Amino acid sequence: MKMPKRIIALIITVFTALAAFAGCTSQNNNTEAKQSAKNGGIDYMALVNKTHALPDNWEKQLKTVHIKNSVGDDVEVEKKAYDAYLKLKADLKKDKIEVDLDSARRSVAEQQRIMDDFTKKYGADYAAKTVAKPGYSEHHTGLALDLYLIINGKDVTENEDMIKYTKIWATIHKKLANYGFILRYLEGSEHITGYGYEPWHIRYIDDVKTAKEITEKGVTFEEYLGAASGKKVDIDYGGSKLYSKDDLKDAVIQIKCKFAFYNGFELGAVRYGGDKYITEKMLKKVQKDNPKSKYTQVAVFLMDFSTSKTTGVTKLKPDYDYKDYECILARSKDNGWEVLSFGS
Ligand SMILES: [Zn+2]
Repeated sequence: MKMPKRIIALIITVFTALAAFAGCTSQNNNTEAKQSAKNGGIDYMALVNKTHALPDNWEKQLKTVHIKNSVGDDVEVEKKAYDAYLKLKADLKKDKIEVDLDSARRSVAEQQRIMDDFTKKYGADYAAKTVAKPGYSEHHTGLALDLYLIINGKDVTENEDMIKYTKIWATIHKKLANYGFILRYLEGSEHITGYGYEPWHIRYIDDVKTAKEITEKGVTFEEYLGAASGKKVDIDYGGSKLYSKDDLKDAVIQIKCKFAFYNGFELGAVRYGGDKYITEKMLKKVQKDNPKSKYTQVAVFLMDFSTSKTTGVTKLKPDYDYKDYECILARSKDNGWEVLSFGS
C-alpha cells in the first residue's frame, strides 16, 4: 500500500518536537511579495519550516487547482505554482525527462488528522516524534511540490529509487530557477532546513530573479531570508570500530535535522564521541528508558553550539556557547538513528 510510504516521504521527522517556538520572525526582504500579500494574495516568499508556522489566513487566500497524476492520485497545487510547473515540465520534456507531481498541498486540518490518527494508533509520544507538527510543513503553502520521475514509461515514486537518478535530478535542478522554483532541502543543510536531502521537493517563489540568485549562491531559503546563519558546521567522524562512516554520517544528519527545531541556535561542530562512550550499561539504560523501541545500538556525539537570546528550552542557558555537549542516539535493527537526548 502506498499511503504509509507517502506519509513517510512527506511528513516523517525522526525527532522530538519542541513545545516552544518563541521569537519566530521571518525576515522577508522581498517588497514585491509583501505588496502582493498586502493586496490580499499570499506571500510567495513566506518561510514555513519547523520553527516558522504557516501565516494566518493563508488557507483563506490560497487559490489552488486539482489535478490527477499518472498514478491516479488527486494533487492540489497553488494556481501560479502549477502554471510554472507545467512550463518546467514542458522544458524537461525537451531533454527527454518526464516528471509528475507526487504531492503538493496538504491542509493543516489534514495534517492534524494524520497526527490524531498516529496518536490513536501509536500514542502521543510516537506521534510527536514521527509526524510533522500541523502548521509547520511547507506543504501547507501549496507552493511546495514533490516531483516523481517517469523513466521509460514507468512511474518511479519511491524515494529510495528516485534518489539514484542523480544526473536527471541535476538537469531538473538546473532549470528550476527559470520558472521561479528553488530546491528546498539541500545536502549538508539539515541543521537549517530540518530535512535530509530531497532532490524532489521544490518550492515556488514566483520570482525568477530571486530564484536564480538563491540558486547561484547555493544557499537555503532560510539563509537567503536571514532566518539562519550560513556558518559551516565542522563534522568530525573520528574513528570507530563499531560503526561504518555511513552509519556515522546518518547519525550526524539526524542530529542536524533535530537542530533545526531550535530557532536562532547556531551549530558549530559535531564530533563522534568515540567507541569508548558505548558501554553495555549505557545500552541497558537506553533500553530501560524506552521499553517499546527495541534499541540495539547507541552512539554518542559531542556538539558545539550557541543558543539564542530566548532558548525556549528551560535546561539551556540563553545566549551561551556550549562546548562538547553530549548527544545520545540509538537505533533498532529495523530503524535508523534517533536522537534520544539533546536539549529537551
Ligand atoms: Zn515535500
